[in-house]
Amino acid sequence: MKHTLKLLAIAHLSTLSICKYPGLFLLLYLAQQHTMLAQPIQFPQATTSLSSTPEEEDMPEIALSLDDVPMPGTVLFGGMARTKAIIQKLQAVNSPAIGIFALGIHAQGAQNMQRLRMYAEAGHIIANHTYSHWSLNKVNPQTFIQDVQRAHRCFQALPNFRPWLRFPFLHEGETIAKRQAVMQALAAMGYQEGYVTISNHDYHINNLVVKAARAGKQINYEKLKAIYIRILWDCIRTYDQLARKVLKRKVKHVLLLHENDLAALFIGDLIEYIRSQGWRVISIEEAYKDAIAAVALMTNYGHTGRIAAIGVEKGLGKGLVGFPPTTHLKYIAEALQQEKVFTDP
Ligand SMILES: [Zn+2]
Repeated sequence: MKHTLKLLAIAHLSTLSICKYPGLFLLLYLAQQHTMLAQPIQFPQATTSLSSTPEEEDMPEIALSLDDVPMPGTVLFGGMARTKAIIQKLQAVNSPAIGIFALGIHAQGAQNMQRLRMYAEAGHIIANHTYSHWSLNKVNPQTFIQDVQRAHRCFQALPNFRPWLRFPFLHEGETIAKRQAVMQALAAMGYQEGYVTISNHDYHINNLVVKAARAGKQINYEKLKAIYIRILWDCIRTYDQLARKVLKRKVKHVLLLHENDLAALFIGDLIEYIRSQGWRVISIEEAYKDAIAAVALMTNYGHTGRIAAIGVEKGLGKGLVGFPPTTHLKYIAEALQQEKVFTDP
């Protein structure tokens, strides 16, 4: 979905050229550039709970989140059918609350708003993914914040709404000063960042599956499930290793997924697989209790997740915090082909 939305974002840009940076934001830029130099970077230490056993303390933990909700229907699932399937599969494995990052342009009409309400009524947490899905790297802070506020007005009355923002494309601005201006405006609105610690390209696998389905190919769902879980698990492990290297402790992870057909097919299997590897699946609210949620980052390197950003800020090279090879777009296409996931009828 990132590609489609990127086109949407570009299409919207032409309407934004008349926007000017207001004086307030310029002042914020300058103030932030000044304070950036003055503030020492504090990295969080592990916290322990007295109520759990040593074995439980050691269990890696992860929460799931879905972006771009409610996503439009495809040849595989209508939108409402997909939402129902995801909710049912989460219930079937007794999943804790996941994060539902709602997108304004997808939530047009009563049925799409109803889909968000269904997630909330099933116990999941609704949060803000902006109205228009603009990249902060391409619009000015004022325009971006107005778009966040527009989405806030759409979603704030939903049950289980939380003032958390997930940046579209995980783009946090092309300059640190721009990011700081937006973070300050968000804080004034009572918002915190709905960050991820594990990014991946689930949207790309999904795009290839939908394209094959539209072309009339037969899909081997067992093989597809195995590839989907393998790629995501590789990504989870890679980012967990990174977390232990950067923070010197385990972290409460947040996995980025999208509300796509793959989630509707396999989200229950994914959760069961994660648990089978000795991990605990936790609620999105529990995940955001990790001390990394309170770190005031002075980097805009957020597009591969918060651990990676902290790593860059600590001076690790950017090459050390990239995606694992199995999430590369070329690998995904080749894996689907080699395993003959799609065949002619
Ligand atoms: Zn998105």
